[in-house]
Amino acid sequence: MLELSRNDRFFDAKTPLQLLMTSPEHDLDPGETFEAAGELLAHLQRGGVRFIPQANAESVESWSSRWIQAAGPAVSADPSTGVAAASDAQSQPKAPAIKSSIGPEVKTPPRAPEGRLKPVESFSASDDPYPGSNLPIAERETELANLASVVAGCTKCELLAKCRTQTVFGEGNPAARIVFFGEAPGADEDRQGRAFIGRAGQLLDKMVQACKLQREDIYLLNTVKCRPPENRNPEPTELANCRDYFEQQLQILRPEYIVCLGAVSAHSLLKTKLSIGRLRQRFHQYHESKVLVIYHPAYLLRNPDAKKAAWADLQMLMRDAGLA
Ligand code: URA
Ligand code: SF4
Repeated sequence: MLELSRNDRFFDAKTPLQLLMTSPEHDLDPGETFEAAGELLAHLQRGGVRFIPQANAESVESWSSRWIQAAGPAVSADPSTGVAAASDAQSQPKAPAIKSSIGPEVKTPPRAPEGRLKPVESFSASDDPYPGSNLPIAERETELANLASVVAGCTKCELLAKCRTQTVFGEGNPAARIVFFGEAPGADEDRQGRAFIGRAGQLLDKMVQACKLQREDIYLLNTVKCRPPENRNPEPTELANCRDYFEQQLQILRPEYIVCLGAVSAHSLLKTKLSIGRLRQRFHQYHESKVLVIYHPAYLLRNPDAKKAAWADLQMLMRDAGLA
């Protein structure tokens, strides 16, 4: 029998297990949680684990039905889906017991009802025009440079300001039609002061090239400009502290499209907590920009199966932007 401890390599940061363990804070909906549970089992199997302790089926069932009920109001940004989800959950048939290929007979947790992960209708976070005026490119450059020097001296988040090597403001073409909106700088970005230059950035470059664009054509920015320690997600207070900076950047850039990479930037921009599974494949709105939500390249590196979905999303962007 294999015993797992916290120091085990299966507990490496950003494993599906971590996703599950952190889910309450990150408001994964039950559908995403079940997906993550499936990924966790596959991940453990790939790692050679042949024994998974059998869960107490009764507590799994009562835990998950309580969570599904509790999740109803969380999607109330779209009242129709909230109501439908609650009644779907109640009418869910009991989960059948199945033989697991990795252990003794286990009872599967009830599956997320079909349709819970269907995309929601479009979100409009702010449907009024961008404030201020549409600046000529040279002025945009000056405004961005001025803002970058304010950000460089920012100490609103005591911990982040203390831990950072330098701020990572963002970079790219001030006339970009498309802005890619990431989460937070990682170690490489913190060292060099540039957005998306690590492994996730290299994959993002490929994704951009697949859209027949180059890095020079786009603009890259993040929700927070300082690296959170241990690459943890930014805290709500840090997101709130830094929000004004990305809002000002977007106001200067006025892009046609904003592509949110991952849940942190999507949640922050659109002021919703819905999962990527439900936000993707739709254009949302932020002032005059169309907003598309896709999986973060770091997630795609860990879950290559999701690349297909990300590619479908990018194709949707290309078609809409006349790039296809
Ligand atoms: N991940 C992000 O979200 N942003 C970066 O700049 C790098 C990695
Ligand atoms: Fe300032 Fe943003 Fe860095 Fe916080 S994360 S210290 S608000 S620049």
